Amino acid sequence: MVDPQTRFEELVAKLREREHRLTPQRIALLRLLAASDGHPSASQLYEQIKDQFPTTSLATVYKTLDVLKEMGEVLELGFSGDDNRYDGKNPYPHPHLICVRCQKILDPAVSLPQGLVQEVARSSGYQIVGHRLDFYGLCPDCRDST
Ligand SMILES: [Zn+2]
Ligand SMILES: [Zn+2]
Repeated sequence: MVDPQTRFEELVAKLREREHRLTPQRIALLRLLAASDGHPSASQLYEQIKDQFPTTSLATVYKTLDVLKEMGEVLELGFSGDDNRYDGKNPYPHPHLICVRCQKILDPAVSLPQGLVQEVARSSGYQIVGHRLDFYGLCPDCRDST
């Protein structure tokens, strides 16, 4: 697991490499993304930086997320009827744990069996470009409050 500071510096360096503008808002957003474990939505990210940067809009947040997505530096989890959620810590496909009550999303400390992706590719003839595995349940906090 990469520590937030290292990941933050990595994101800054990648944007700089591509000559993207690094506004203070954008820096704050990168810092948040690098430190967030809960897979925030764009509006949650916006809520967290708008006090510090009152001129920021939700559109600004989406724009930065789009740039990062294009570069493969943020993983977007889409949900029908719900806000998309973002993982800026680990942009590569990995399993997720989703709480059906509080909507918290975590990365479980497991990885897919080695060779699974290759096996799917081999047996189907597909060139695999990504995968998604979501586990649904009640997180310990929500389970205790029932
Ligand atoms: Zn929960
Ligand atoms: Zn994740």
